[in-house]
Amino acid sequence: MKNMNHIVYMVLCTISMGLLASCAAKQVALKIDQYPSKQGSLREMQYSPAKTTFELWSPGAEAVTLRLYADDTSATPLKQVKMRRRQDGTWTAFAKGDWKGKFYTFEITQSSSRWKLHETPGIFATAVGTNGKRAAIIDLQETNPEGWAEDAKRSRILEKDAIIYELHMRDLSVHPASGITNKGKFLALTEHGTLSPEGLKTGIDHLVELGVTHVQILPMYDYASVDESKPDKPQYNWGYDPLNYNVPEGSYSTNPADPTCRIRELKLMIKALHDAGIGVIMDVVYNHTYDVENSQFTQTCPDYFYRMNKKGELGNASGCGNETASERDMMHRFIVESALYWAQEYHLDGFRFDLMGIHDQATMMDVRRKLDALGSNYLLYGEGWAAGAPLYPNEKLAMKANIKNMPGIGAFCDDMRDALRGPFSDDHESAFLDAKPGFEQSIRFGLVGCIAHPDVQMDQVNYSKSPWTTIPSQSINYVSCHDDMMLTDRLKASVQLEEGELERLDKLAQTAVLTSQGLPFLWAGEEIMRDKKGVHNSFCSPDSINQIDWSLKAKNQDLFAYYQGLIALRKAHPAFRMGMPEEVRQHMRFLDTPDNVVAFVLRDHAAGDEWEQIVVILNSRREPVEVKLPKGKFVTCVADGQCPCEPVNMSGIITVSAQSATILHTR
Ligand code: CA
Repeated sequence: MKNMNHIVYMVLCTISMGLLASCAAKQVALKIDQYPSKQGSLREMQYSPAKTTFELWSPGAEAVTLRLYADDTSATPLKQVKMRRRQDGTWTAFAKGDWKGKFYTFEITQSSSRWKLHETPGIFATAVGTNGKRAAIIDLQETNPEGWAEDAKRSRILEKDAIIYELHMRDLSVHPASGITNKGKFLALTEHGTLSPEGLKTGIDHLVELGVTHVQILPMYDYASVDESKPDKPQYNWGYDPLNYNVPEGSYSTNPADPTCRIRELKLMIKALHDAGIGVIMDVVYNHTYDVENSQFTQTCPDYFYRMNKKGELGNASGCGNETASERDMMHRFIVESALYWAQEYHLDGFRFDLMGIHDQATMMDVRRKLDALGSNYLLYGEGWAAGAPLYPNEKLAMKANIKNMPGIGAFCDDMRDALRGPFSDDHESAFLDAKPGFEQSIRFGLVGCIAHPDVQMDQVNYSKSPWTTIPSQSINYVSCHDDMMLTDRLKASVQLEEGELERLDKLAQTAVLTSQGLPFLWAGEEIMRDKKGVHNSFCSPDSINQIDWSLKAKNQDLFAYYQGLIALRKAHPAFRMGMPEEVRQHMRFLDTPDNVVAFVLRDHAAGDEWEQIVVILNSRREPVEVKLPKGKFVTCVADGQCPCEPVNMSGIITVSAQSATILHTR
């Protein structure tokens, strides 16, 4: 079996009953890298009332049969059609008549496959039944909600103005205190007027009240780990286990068995968010699949879509047992066409690429270019790292250090994140927020959006040894996200907290995030002191760990008001989001401050701001600190955990309270 993994024996002759006797099957060894690519779109089903056509790229197959079913569970097909092979490795067939509402799969015969092949809905199903086993024949037009055509024409806000809120579909609504009817469903975000037991806004109204510009939703494409046939069984997963990439997840719909339901309901959710002035970013996980044997990639074209070493062993840069090969033409095209499909069909406003460092830069830049061709201001960013070493040269990958070569693509800033709260590797280790010295330059680096800046001493930055962005909005700035401990849990685990310190440090951390020149990013519920009971990796923890308890909002109204106030301040003042690196270098300068204090001035009406000077001082010391202001008569707008605070006139040397931020501006 040596090298069998790379070699597929193709039967070149078209095998039909009439030709079989005269056609001698000729076997040719073809390496995977030599497979022809599919011509045209990767879409596999095209419906019309007169006939439905099917095209499946499976260049290693010896035969492919299309199976048509009445529903997503019946054992016997209504019809089977032998598909014909094209020169580009694509198998084609059509079914005459109107097949809308029926289901289909492909049965592929490939004797050289080391994997057991079974029926597959293909790699590019756009509608599926329960648990994504069978693809469905639908008319996508019929899934569009009222006003959908107008929704497509709305304008997206400028990238530099984004404030991103990361959210899991279930966490938002499942708690009894959410007041939301469609618990755990896409429709939860279409419900206005929902209230906590104390009468405070929840759900979509809460997002509007908070003021964020975008939600980034954890995987909402069809994933494998939740059994859609058991809606009443307690089940939870983040969804980083892709099954059908181009279909919404069924468990978030009110009827997973109806293929149009999940599509229509997701579109209703997106339209409701758009109508509320909020953009929608999708978390996409093209870097790996749930497993290899049962993935639609393997079931359609074994081994082609994954990276393997010379022994035929799978790469594992995802930490999930496999990594996809974006450098292969059809994987590259799959990622690009899939993202474009979501952007166009679902009117998405951006993408967050999971473990983006596994993908090659060329693929990411192709996504960028093609999104730009669709329209302006699509957000595109990802995790600029991998969970293991990818089987591809580092300099060609979309790693954080290579972001400077990838205009229009951003990455998460772990430099400032860990300088604030401590490293990913140890939940109990603290940093700046615990008044430890030595993290000030890393925080400065994050605050400028990771560009080159004269006031940042790169040799003292924790991770990056050189600037990794060319414009500040390429840096996604945050202190916590779904991965890892939440900010509240992390502070409890890593800092000896006295009474009131949790809230003070929470506010201080988010002041750094929300006044930075990078794009601010918040994890849902942190604004009301949500916690995950100390669980670090809650990807399959029950609702009791992951849900947002909306009764916390009444208990933490002061914290919520602070987040809300900072967001309003950022939105009102372009100085906090200058956009251009030259402007940041010119207008944003740091003040000389002692250990555990970082302070900067945004000067000379930065970005046309109405305020001539804005000073931001972050003090993580357990005692007040004196800071000398630049020349001028200032007035406070944030002080001692209040945003906005009572305006107080100040100049010269001022005192900043312990573990707090002060923001002042000249009149
Ligand atoms: Ca699913």
